[in-house]
Amino acid sequence: MIRKILIANRGEIALRIHRAAHDMGIKTVAVHSTADADAMHVRLADEAICIGPPPAADSYLNVANIIAAAEIAQADAIHPGYGFLSENARFAGIVEQHNIAWIGPAPEHIRTMGDKVEAKRTAAAIGLPLVPGSDGAVTSVAEAQKVADAIGYPVLVKAASGGGGRGMKVVPDAGSLGPLMAQAKAEAKAAFGDDTVYLEKYLSEPRHIEFQVFGDGKGNAVHLGERDCSLQRRHQKVLEEAPSPALSPAQRAEMGEVVRSAVAKLGYRGAGTMEFLFEDGKFYFIEMNTRLQVEHPVTEAITGLDLVAMQIMVAAGEPLPLTQDEVRFAGHAIECRINAEDPATFAPSPGRVVDFHAPGGPGVRVDSALYAGYRIPPYYDSLIAKLIVYGDDREQCRMRLKRALEEFIVTGVKTTIPLHQALLDDPDFIRGDYSIKWLERWLAARAEA
Ligand code: ADP
Repeated sequence: MIRKILIANRGEIALRIHRAAHDMGIKTVAVHSTADADAMHVRLADEAICIGPPPAADSYLNVANIIAAAEIAQADAIHPGYGFLSENARFAGIVEQHNIAWIGPAPEHIRTMGDKVEAKRTAAAIGLPLVPGSDGAVTSVAEAQKVADAIGYPVLVKAASGGGGRGMKVVPDAGSLGPLMAQAKAEAKAAFGDDTVYLEKYLSEPRHIEFQVFGDGKGNAVHLGERDCSLQRRHQKVLEEAPSPALSPAQRAEMGEVVRSAVAKLGYRGAGTMEFLFEDGKFYFIEMNTRLQVEHPVTEAITGLDLVAMQIMVAAGEPLPLTQDEVRFAGHAIECRINAEDPATFAPSPGRVVDFHAPGGPGVRVDSALYAGYRIPPYYDSLIAKLIVYGDDREQCRMRLKRALEEFIVTGVKTTIPLHQALLDDPDFIRGDYSIKWLERWLAARAEA
């Protein structure tokens, strides 16, 4: 039984977790840096504890202070949200050692999936299709050359400890393999302290399609359908939708079952996401995220489920609330990530929010920790709001989203609302015809015009 949850995060996701907890009659403890003393998650939580100065390394990543806060508040569970410590296996282990329920997967699953070479090996063993590539790490250029010749150029050099696209190099031909592999290793060493790299076939125009999964840790699992997150800028997702306009119901059911059975074999506990590239009708596993995703609300919209509540239930040792046969998909949902950034240059735009008015009406959900008078601190992620809109079909969803964006008022800082407005009117977007390359090309064309 969980009675009090410490939320080891900030911003909209801290609020999201607080809401699920209060819906279940569970008390919440907010932790915050000195920069976030006035934050919404601090105001709404039942208790709040300051855990350090503004830099995340000293506060939201400060394991000792967070554990101390949980003990002082006598929290019986910790929810890490996304980012920060959510995929830190060591932290998850420490939480469990303190007899505090970890609202996340077993530390060993976080560790396995956090190492990309290990993750691919595991994915293959549980029956997921991989991108053709090296069998594990490549150590010499000669070895890389052999693999690249076998799979064909272009190839991608990727960092085993990678994240956010760092330590990743596209190699067009044999001549550039040596130098680009050296660059990737140097970048990986600098960013992650680990220069292990591996090779993959470079797919030219794939879509990014990910499946939401849930396990009970005892071999039962469900999949909750897919999300299409192909609209990315610098490997950062900008807009996500469910279902993917590129999948047929038969493809969804078939791949969903492959993924569900893989998660069951793993004995996975809690929420997770299996990410794939999808090209020419085929799926290729790229990674598993062992946490709640930013874009989880689109799945909630089309399934009617509360994923955070499900995480809490599973962490408390309860069974999954539904079987695969009971999962119902209906309608269409799209999420716009609204950032405090210049919509043309993407330069961060922190500062004081003067007016704030969130849209409403049929099918509209806003997940945001903003309020009028709030000062967006410069220290953290620039995501300030997620606008999630539901419609009976994709076109109704798109029209409602356009209407909701018209209603959305944030003044005092720049936001990416105008970018989303332009995106929703693009003919390719209207047709659902886009790959992971599309947004960068579209942005480049706009910058020139
Ligand atoms: P990271 O953990 O650094 O984000 P991922 O493996 O998730 O790395 O890949 C990030 C992004 O890079 C993917 O969403 C996709 O856009 C692109 N990518 C990854 N692997 C390939 C590949 N084999 N071919 C083409 N693009 C890829």
